[in-house]
Amino acid sequence: MISMTHVQKHYGDLHVLQDITIEIPRGQVVVVLGPSGSGKSTLCRTINRLEPIDSGEIRIEGELLPAEGKDLARLRSDVGMVFQSFNLFAHKTILQNVTMGPTKVRKVSSADAEKHALELLDRVGVTKQKDKYPAQLSGGQQQRVAIARSLAMDPKVILFDEPTSALDPEMVSEVLDVMVSLAREGMTMVVVTHEMGFARKAADRIIFMADGAIVEDTDPESFFTAPKSERARDFLSKIL
Ligand code: ATP
Ligand code: MG
Repeated sequence: MISMTHVQKHYGDLHVLQDITIEIPRGQVVVVLGPSGSGKSTLCRTINRLEPIDSGEIRIEGELLPAEGKDLARLRSDVGMVFQSFNLFAHKTILQNVTMGPTKVRKVSSADAEKHALELLDRVGVTKQKDKYPAQLSGGQQQRVAIARSLAMDPKVILFDEPTSALDPEMVSEVLDVMVSLAREGMTMVVVTHEMGFARKAADRIIFMADGAIVEDTDPESFFTAPKSERARDFLSKIL
């Protein structure tokens, strides 16, 4: 379980996270929606403290995430992140991209890391590309490798920040399909996306943010058919 309790964050005068309190149980798929600038990416980055917070608490399975130090590094390695830009290591092969975390951080043997990596590459459908470099892959393939790389660390949760926004339209579904199957297998996921099809199909819960605050926190059915706030109605009228 991931929890944030009364998390506050400012950028100068901007109150970018306003008293955020959420509990995400294991296996839950949370889709975070909201207008541009509402704080969705900031929320994602603070979950593993890539961004400092002013006050409040963040816990991963009960354990408090400290602001720095060894415990932070260890807890952070339990949180996978998949960004809009794929962030693969350009000078490493696809296979090396996936084995690096487990061998360096988790101290898994090369042989075991490679065996697991090959299973993961197969699962996301890029086995044939294993000896290529990231630049030789399509965006959709690179993003699927990024997901495999996250999975290789055996994370407790994976955060996705607009994972399909930078992709050509024909590649969006191949990435979403992988995400839907992860969701169905019980991975805990926090997903910022504009893909409403994914939200309807895979989300257990919708968190709608506006101006740094959580305005609605509900199930997808309620959110899409009967949003309670004016902000959410306005947002939905623009995107649906
Ligand atoms: P989008 O849908 O456009 O990705 P978002 O909901 O992810 O938007 P954030 O990126 O979290 O929004 O930004 C929230 C607010 O914080 C915005 O007003 C943004 O300009 C501001 N902001 C984000 N990062 C910084 C930073 N490093 N320094 C100052 N202000 C920032
Ligand atoms: Mg964002």
